[in-house]
Amino acid sequence: MEVIVDKNSGFCFGVANAINKAEEILSKKEKLYCLGQMVHNDEEISRLENLGLITITNEEFKQLHNCKVLLRAHGEPPETYLIAKENNIELIDSTCPIVRNLQKKVKKSFSGLEDNDKLVIYGKAEHPEIISLAGQCNNEAIVVKDEKDLDKLNFDGSIKLFSQTTNNPENYNKISKEIQKRLLNKNNDLDITNSICRDVASREGILSDFAKENDIVIFTSGKNSSNGKMLYNQCIKVNPNTYFISSVQELKSDWFSKSDKVGVCGSTSTPAWLMEEVATKIKTFNNG
Ligand code: SF4
Repeated sequence: MEVIVDKNSGFCFGVANAINKAEEILSKKEKLYCLGQMVHNDEEISRLENLGLITITNEEFKQLHNCKVLLRAHGEPPETYLIAKENNIELIDSTCPIVRNLQKKVKKSFSGLEDNDKLVIYGKAEHPEIISLAGQCNNEAIVVKDEKDLDKLNFDGSIKLFSQTTNNPENYNKISKEIQKRLLNKNNDLDITNSICRDVASREGILSDFAKENDIVIFTSGKNSSNGKMLYNQCIKVNPNTYFISSVQELKSDWFSKSDKVGVCGSTSTPAWLMEEVATKIKTFNNG
């Protein structure tokens, strides 16, 4: 059995940068908190927690004083920075530069809205990046996760549209067209910002080719990773023999036979060490 790990899968630079910063501080044996899960991957969280990283909730953050807290790549709303200032918390701000830039754009667009205009963000309301973006406009942005959500919008003004960076470009295009259609009836404009991360957008095509080249695909990702779900769907679309796993323990030997070419890949939040571990385990299966 041939087993290959996709060299294009794994941490995007935003996540890699945040993890590097955490490792650097933890290596000096300093106490470090992380506001929210560093990355949507339980295996990597456990590794970092074993190094000493303490993951905290927003409520726990409010109670802390005089300490170091790392802000992950997804970014934070302005309120977080205010609390840190009041509580003398040193922030290790690891907001991805792409997200930071998007936060600025959202803030600027929101301040330029006229009566009845709306700022709409395509994404999941509970996703940390969306919380960080909505915070740039006093949580007055309208967050839509699908076309059905558009029914809660009235189209009596122009719309400025943004997307969560990890969304599927095709779906963003579809929702943009639907908004455009509904606005045209009322003679209002749509201003679309292409805010999908290029790293994410380019991975779909690359991963599709990888999935096609292999008989079996083992897609490794945290179950709560949006990017993971999107890329897994892409893999299974082109190769029905794709399995989604989050840990080595979920592998089943009867998925494989000796003549198979197996590809191991993952999302932008999957650590390379985990994909290597998965590949090593698969090689131990020796089915006929
Ligand atoms: S997916 Fe893109 S925008 Fe999001 S953290 Fe990674 S590099 Fe930054």
